Amino acid sequence: MNLSHSSYDILIAGAGPVGCVLAERCATQLGWKVLLIDKRNHVAGNCYDRFHESGVMIHQYGPHYFRTNNKDLLDYLSQFTEWIPGKYFVTSYTRNEYFPFPINLLTLAQFFGKDSLTPEEATALLESKREKIAFPKNSEEFVLSRVGKEMYEAFYLGYTLKQWDMHPRDLSPSVCGRIPIRLNNDCRYVDHTYQCTPKEGFTALFTKMTQHPLIDIQLATDFNTITHKPPLVIYTGAIDEYFQFKLGKLAWRSLSFDFQVKNQAYVQDNVQINYPNEHDYTRTVEIKHVTGQVHPQTVISYEYPKAEGDPYYPIPTDENQALYLQYKELAEQETKAHQVYFCGRLAEYKYFNTDEVIENALRTFDVLKSKHGH
Ligand code: UDP
Repeated sequence: MNLSHSSYDILIAGAGPVGCVLAERCATQLGWKVLLIDKRNHVAGNCYDRFHESGVMIHQYGPHYFRTNNKDLLDYLSQFTEWIPGKYFVTSYTRNEYFPFPINLLTLAQFFGKDSLTPEEATALLESKREKIAFPKNSEEFVLSRVGKEMYEAFYLGYTLKQWDMHPRDLSPSVCGRIPIRLNNDCRYVDHTYQCTPKEGFTALFTKMTQHPLIDIQLATDFNTITHKPPLVIYTGAIDEYFQFKLGKLAWRSLSFDFQVKNQAYVQDNVQINYPNEHDYTRTVEIKHVTGQVHPQTVISYEYPKAEGDPYYPIPTDENQALYLQYKELAEQETKAHQVYFCGRLAEYKYFNTDEVIENALRTFDVLKSKHGH
């Protein structure tokens, strides 16, 4: 750490998944000297997990259910961790009952008071319920066109209002479209081929990834305090902040978490319960179901969406997207003029999952390598 900042080959701002992957690639593949910084006092970004005072492992910034369809990506990450199967099961509490969620044949049968439903019966039932909207323009139309008004109101409307403080009709179809609707009995939360969790957690994974003699990590460090920057910079923070909000502020949704210890091994039957229509929190998460930790106590996280605070989710509206595109133009000029590259959920203002941002980081690495890697 005695090196002056300008003697590094590259500065990487943000030690989340994107920053850690790029640091690892630059050090191991190109032999570059890397300075990896983060505002926070830990690596792993929002994937950060830690042991709560009770000794129970928690996901500090909300649950991360790792999944991917990309075997190469999984193989790459497997250098830094072993995996355990991802037990990602969610229920939704609505109309005084717990339902499997996302909606599947079991949910449909329970909701419409049938003993069971075949896929053909469910198709016919949904055909009678759904609204005939060929090209849904927003999240409300998306859900109405798939399952109709009753299920939309029971499962989606209230949850989305709480989560975004916006009506689903004002959000892009991709928001509620993240959730599959299935005509089988598959109760897993997501559809991906590989669903697994790092055995020792995400913090351990990203720590191992960045343990390299060519990588120096400086935590609790603001990007703007680095005055003499190396010739190459990767910026993974919020894009509007990089440009000092000169075109205006992008809208972000934030969260706060209330972690409560319970004196029993498990409280919930599965990792996540969604509450579309009750409480101020959207969901309760008992991450022990996913981490597989054996412990006499457990911790439940109550998740409260809010407007202020650290940026978590870009808000997918047409207006925000238009402003982002203006920032993106500035970013492209900045890349050309000063070799500053922008990558990640915050820098690209897109609701990416963890595997997707890692794919983007690997793509950004290919660009860096082809332009500067000799
Ligand atoms: N959603 C909903 N009801 C639910 C769960 C999700 O209406 O029970 C909607 C909501 O708008 C949410 C979006 O679907 O923001 C995506 O949900 P997901 O669980 O993927 O959100 P994340 O885990 O990324 O917060």
